[in-house]
Amino acid sequence: MTDAAMPLAIGRRRLGLAAAGLLAAPAFIRHALAADVPRFTLGVASGQPRPHSVVLWTRVTGLDLPERCEVRWELAEDEGFSRLASAGVFEAEAAWAHSVHVEPRGLDPGRWYWYRFQALGQRSAVGRTRTAPAPDAPASLRAALACCQRWEHGHYAAWRHIAGQPNDLVLFVGDYIYEYPSIRTGARTHDLHAARSLGQYRNRYELYKSDPALQAVHAAAPWLLVWDDHEVENDYAADQGVHLSGAAMRAVRAAAYQAYWEHLPFSMAQRPQGADMRIYDRFDWGRLARLQLVDDRQYRDPQACAPAFRAAGVGRVSPERCAELADPKRSLLGATQERWLAEGWDSARGWNLLVQQTLMARNSSKAVEGADSGRYAADNWDGYPAARGRLLHTLVQRRVPNPVVLGGDVHAHYVAELKADFDDERSAVVASEFCTSSISSNGPPQFMVNTALKHNPHLLHGRGDQRGYIALELQAEQLRATTMVVARPVDPFSAVTGDASFVVESGRAGPQRD
Ligand code: FE
Ligand code: CA
Repeated sequence: MTDAAMPLAIGRRRLGLAAAGLLAAPAFIRHALAADVPRFTLGVASGQPRPHSVVLWTRVTGLDLPERCEVRWELAEDEGFSRLASAGVFEAEAAWAHSVHVEPRGLDPGRWYWYRFQALGQRSAVGRTRTAPAPDAPASLRAALACCQRWEHGHYAAWRHIAGQPNDLVLFVGDYIYEYPSIRTGARTHDLHAARSLGQYRNRYELYKSDPALQAVHAAAPWLLVWDDHEVENDYAADQGVHLSGAAMRAVRAAAYQAYWEHLPFSMAQRPQGADMRIYDRFDWGRLARLQLVDDRQYRDPQACAPAFRAAGVGRVSPERCAELADPKRSLLGATQERWLAEGWDSARGWNLLVQQTLMARNSSKAVEGADSGRYAADNWDGYPAARGRLLHTLVQRRVPNPVVLGGDVHAHYVAELKADFDDERSAVVASEFCTSSISSNGPPQFMVNTALKHNPHLLHGRGDQRGYIALELQAEQLRATTMVVARPVDPFSAVTGDASFVVESGRAGPQRD
């Protein structure tokens, strides 16, 4: 239930039996709902900024919570909450982990707001959020592009840094959690088993969200998120998992999707139904840009020539030994989403940003001599070359203004030219690509990235030995992207500094070294 304008009295009446229960046993409840149990231990968050609305999130915590719990929320025009823009009561339910998802409407475009929650006599931290600019307003955009925050691999100095920057948005492109048990040699360790059930996925989010730097960056600005594989399981494809497939895999997916929704600023309308949750969506940022967010997991065809035993992932494939790879019917996004994306490119706005999970540029790990050679990661766009070709062809055919692909997943910073034909070095550059390294997850050794740079000349820059994120500054005339690097990933307070900087000039496809 979400009701922005619901007065407290109606909320109480709807509580009905729960409220009667409270009256019947006041002493017990007073004892059970101890005021000193912390209620907002996972912080606050916001997301999905539109010109007149934004989604606010929190979760009420504690083992003693009733089935239903009233949570008051407030959104103010000032940090001191003296001018309320909107307020209401949300009824958090045990069935959804007492998560709170409210969507105040009627807000002013292009401005900052502050929000907080109150429940069981306690108040949450204050979060800061903003609305998108009005659709016809000139605008600029500062955003952090991030992904892959394996908790035990490193501390979140990158998040701490992002929280201190004046960002309008955080773009998170997947691997918010990892389902694995802990490695024993990381920067920190946990004792959780591999996640499989709803309770286990919830525990994983609780672990990750206990980190103060992650809470700070959620409270600092609204996020737009898409998931990748590890929110469910490594390299899964639709209902094909490592050991399970079909209905059994869908049951795992339903648990994972529910926990994902419960812990992130998604709207009530997006609440999963069984194993289905729609996350692909588009957002406009004034006259400046359209952002299209896609889902590369839920609707994809299985990876080509995947091994029967997938425990080590789907690995790499060679086109000469895998005819299936080139099958034009295979899709990474699924036919419906592919069509939705193609129809969504915006010819009226200056920039078209595709927010997606992985590296789109061709990345062969060996020398390529012609279309049928090379060696490619089956899980990435390289594993779905016909679908990639369709997407890039649409950009050319529709003359899409300034397409820029943003991605992650490969745990390395990459900057690339996306080509109409990757086999032809002189082929036109169709779009620019910025693929962020991981916040904390371990990356590939640099010698492997150097090999990739050698065999794929459209990869302009690659660093597997750096943790961090990409800072984006977008204006009408230019996009600037800077790879940000964590000096010491084992140190939560490590310095984070800019390394490689590229610009994309409006009207000229391809990143230029700055
Ligand atoms: Fe990852
Ligand atoms: Ca991934």
